[in-house]
Amino acid sequence: MSTEVKHCVKSSMPDIFKEIKDWNDDMRSWSNLMYCDMYNYFVRSTAVDGETMKNFKSLQSYNYFQSGNVDKILHFNATDNKIFMKASVRSSQTVSRLNDAYVMCTGEGAVEQAWCTCMAGLGLSCSHVGALLWKIEYAVRNSMTGVSCTDETAKWNRGTTRTLNQSHLSVFS
Ligand SMILES: [Zn+2]
Repeated sequence: MSTEVKHCVKSSMPDIFKEIKDWNDDMRSWSNLMYCDMYNYFVRSTAVDGETMKNFKSLQSYNYFQSGNVDKILHFNATDNKIFMKASVRSSQTVSRLNDAYVMCTGEGAVEQAWCTCMAGLGLSCSHVGALLWKIEYAVRNSMTGVSCTDETAKWNRGTTRTLNQSHLSVFS
């Protein structure tokens, strides 16, 4: 929670995220988000926020994910095929500052809304939301979600330690 006052318009947490009190830890119920869904989200947001695509392309978000900075992802399945997902994302290895990133997706993976605690005054996306999306995308692509979720993949969600990352990520580095 940042106490500093940013000099542009504040973007407070959308009510739809505020209303969720019941977050769950179960990878079997994650949204089926794929790379094209991430891409579509960033392109669409760019129309109103020029910085967005830059965030996506900078690879900082991917680096956050790869470095294990994305904490355990929790989700909430709403009734209308909407899946809310959130995780804390550490800004860097040295600074212990956490931001909470939130996304709302359809079950099929389309990202409909995103928000992050760092966004007070910023645009519609940030590298923390990007990192959260990368983690979901990675899990989906590697069949770690849905029925194939095992104890091991659940462990992966709890803490993407450096060691686990090395073995998991070596496939596509
Ligand atoms: Zn952020």
